[in-house]
Amino acid sequence: MPLYEFRCTNCGNEIEVLQKISAPAPTDCPACGQATLSKKLTAAGFQLKGSGWYATDFKGGGSSTPAASTEATPPPPCANGTCPAC
Ligand SMILES: [Zn+2]
Repeated sequence: MPLYEFRCTNCGNEIEVLQKISAPAPTDCPACGQATLSKKLTAAGFQLKGSGWYATDFKGGGSSTPAASTEATPPPPCANGTCPAC
């Protein structure tokens, strides 16, 4: 007997239901009582693909961009030879 996962779109409650394939899917949320249960996709590859893409995207953009801009901005002092202290 397959295990189905349902998530309430109203309150976010998640439940697992063991039922026959031919059995009707539950619609009422046991937590809030609303008929807003929706079956979750059990394909793990789909969820891993989505979270992994965003994790690598934010990590690469946040670490490289600020460091490169701060190093190039300040000009070297006394580089043109007009400083009287040199
Ligand atoms: Zn609910």
